Amino acid sequence: MAASKGAPDLYSTFLASAPGAFIAKQAGLPQPEKLRRYKAGEPPLAGPVLIGGNGRLVEPLRELLSDYPQSQPHDDKHGGLVFDATGIGNVAELEQLFKFFQPVIRNLAPSARVVVIGTTPEETSSVDEHIAQRALEGFTRSVGKEVKRGATAQLVYISPNASTGLSGLESTLRFLLSAKSAFVDGQVIAVGDADSQAPASWDKPLAGKVAVVTGAARGIGATIAEVLARDGATVIAADIPAAGEALSQTANKVGGTSLALDVTSPDAGEVLSKHLLERHGGADIIVHNAGITRDKTLANMDDARWNSVIGVNLAAPQRITDELVESGALKEGGRVVDVSSIAGIAGNRGQTNYGTSKAGVIGLVHASAPVLAKKNITINAVAPGFIETAMTAAIPFATREAGRRMSSLLQGGETVDVAELVSYFASPASNAVTGQVVRVCGQSLLGA
Ligand code: NAD
Repeated sequence: MAASKGAPDLYSTFLASAPGAFIAKQAGLPQPEKLRRYKAGEPPLAGPVLIGGNGRLVEPLRELLSDYPQSQPHDDKHGGLVFDATGIGNVAELEQLFKFFQPVIRNLAPSARVVVIGTTPEETSSVDEHIAQRALEGFTRSVGKEVKRGATAQLVYISPNASTGLSGLESTLRFLLSAKSAFVDGQVIAVGDADSQAPASWDKPLAGKVAVVTGAARGIGATIAEVLARDGATVIAADIPAAGEALSQTANKVGGTSLALDVTSPDAGEVLSKHLLERHGGADIIVHNAGITRDKTLANMDDARWNSVIGVNLAAPQRITDELVESGALKEGGRVVDVSSIAGIAGNRGQTNYGTSKAGVIGLVHASAPVLAKKNITINAVAPGFIETAMTAAIPFATREAGRRMSSLLQGGETVDVAELVSYFASPASNAVTGQVVRVCGQSLLGA
């Protein structure tokens, strides 16, 4: 996979040297861990998984994870801790979390995974249960801030109506319990009640699927194209005509095709629909990654900066999705993945235009999910934090350093981290996952 083309992380390079590591330790400086990332053929976790809890899901969970090596509470170096918290029905029972996690939380392998599974609070059957289930969020996010050495913690809510086979949960669990979720931390994902079919191979979950990635000439989009192709998809890499050579390079690298497409042109949806229907019989996946920044404080903003950012980042994804769905170029059962940003959650100085556009993307996902569900199309968003790209290399040094370190994982992410999250949403096995916005930010303090 291509390395991210960001500015060099000199601090991490310094720490990787013996004297650097020594000085940093003595001075109590933050010590980012080299995160474990996906490599085909390697086990998903860095060690065995300990499963606990006494809710309705614990036995089905053991069944679902039967191909993962399992550990016992007294073992050290757990690669994962999975806790079924669906049995927690009131405040007093929250003590179950403490009893399970407190004795074992110190004994995690580097890049370990903590996953708590609860019942979607809005779908619980009593006030007591709603309160207790909502409380899991604070617990999980706090655990994410405490665990060290690249370990992460997430909460998955599942609908109480999901069948006990838990097939709809499997793609989410496998993603979170793997090196693919290296930079996703402190997140909450709600899974609906639909059943899912496991792919023939979890290493090629997108086999036979056709995917369009906008803004694919470079940066995050180029890596999304690579990861979707790695996972089996035929990729159409789209970007502005001026991207020319870089776009062809992406397309060649992933064995796909390129399409010159300015997403803001009035006929973009029509052109894309026609292309997909004529050449591919339609597409299964559209990733709206094309995005721009045109930073200025509001007082200094001109209307061109405002309009271009809203146009590329928000208006285009909305219009193009509408047209692809209407024309049938996005097939029934399709996947829409939008790219938001933590700036759309937290806001950012000098980015009123960008923050507006990226918050609008969240609205787009929430509003469209129930509508698209009628065609079994899911729509979700990834919200990247600090990712090492040309975009973030342009940020002034001090702000860039703060962006990297002010997170639980103490470093910036790589473009592949965003791409892995996109591929999880795009999987046919993620049909029970819609309307979700998941940050890929190393649990950045921004907007936390
Ligand atoms: P980038 O500037 O490296 O790449 C963006 C790509 O989009 C370019 O190839 C560009 O040509 C293309 N593009 C721009 N306008 C277009 C248009 N009108 N039609 C078609 N293509 C167009 O940016 P990146 O860092 O790779 O960011 C990709 C996405 O991730 C963007 O939506 C961005 O807002 C988002 N994001 C990035 C970060 C980060 O840290 N880099 C953080 C949060 C969100």
